[in-house]
Amino acid sequence: MKIGFIGLGNMGGPMAANLAAAGHDVTGFDMAKVTVEGVTLAASGAEAAAGADVVITMLPNGQILRSVADEIIPAMQAGAAFVDCSTVDVDSARAVAEKASAAGLLPVDAPVSGGIGGAAGGTLTFMAGGSAEAFEKAKPLFDIMGQKAVHCGDAGAGQAAKICNNMILGVTMIATCEAFALADKLGLDRQKMFDVVSTSSGYSWTMNAYCPAPGVGPQSPADNDYKPGFAAELMLKDLRLSQQAAGSADADTPMGQLAEALYTQFVENEDGMGMDFSAMLPRFEKRSRD
Ligand code: NAD
Repeated sequence: MKIGFIGLGNMGGPMAANLAAAGHDVTGFDMAKVTVEGVTLAASGAEAAAGADVVITMLPNGQILRSVADEIIPAMQAGAAFVDCSTVDVDSARAVAEKASAAGLLPVDAPVSGGIGGAAGGTLTFMAGGSAEAFEKAKPLFDIMGQKAVHCGDAGAGQAAKICNNMILGVTMIATCEAFALADKLGLDRQKMFDVVSTSSGYSWTMNAYCPAPGVGPQSPADNDYKPGFAAELMLKDLRLSQQAAGSADADTPMGQLAEALYTQFVENEDGMGMDFSAMLPRFEKRSRD
């Protein structure tokens, strides 16, 4: 397939390289000066998108996605798929999908989970929103860049699934960390705490697979001085998107709201920036009740 790829950063670069390595004809564009193995660079987004069967975007936020979409939609050929893999707000995803559909394109919002390691290794999970036809057109590419692609529903459904998942993740990480900090103060050994909780009703992905206590449970960023992993500021971005969506949809999400406030405090006023999101545990460790 002829593929246009716009946004060749930490995630987009390796994803585009994997498509080229699988034999696709990939033309890319990024505002920054980049080189990506196997990818021909274009002088603009519109040039990368022109004549492509599928255009993929991997951009920082919804505002940038909207402006890139305005530039590339008129340049794309009718019937092409427009696959946005960025994590953006549901409203932007739906607005871009509407414009793309009106221009005779097949839009898909397909945010990913799996991080930079998943992008490089071709093991991402895609959660996709759009028509069945659009999903089927993008599916062979998801299979190269990832290990799983779930068609979640119509436009915006992929972004909705992503932020709901990550809202659970942020809330659960905080709960796991505050419970470890309480256990410390109650004199409970961390290994015993893990042994009990990981096999009891408090178990979760954050406890069992990504334990925030160093030296306990499987290897995780806690064992590497809390270097990310999944950075606290990226968790904050996703929690903000979840609360923006909750606002638009009039959904009551008190725990998501509290998690957003805590990660804001951690990233903006404490030392959370650049740390893994599980570094909430040393944060709680240092604190007292008030
Ligand atoms: P990044 O900042 O490394 O890459 C974004 C790229 O977009 C940059 O290279 C930037 O120069 C380029 N860009 C910005 N404006 C542009 C424009 N108008 N035209 C062309 N290129 C433009 O970010 P990333 O880590 O690759 O993340 C990309 C997206 O993936 C984000 O939405 C992020 O939330 C999401 N995501 C990231 C991770 C992760 O672990 N990094 C995991 C899951 C999802």
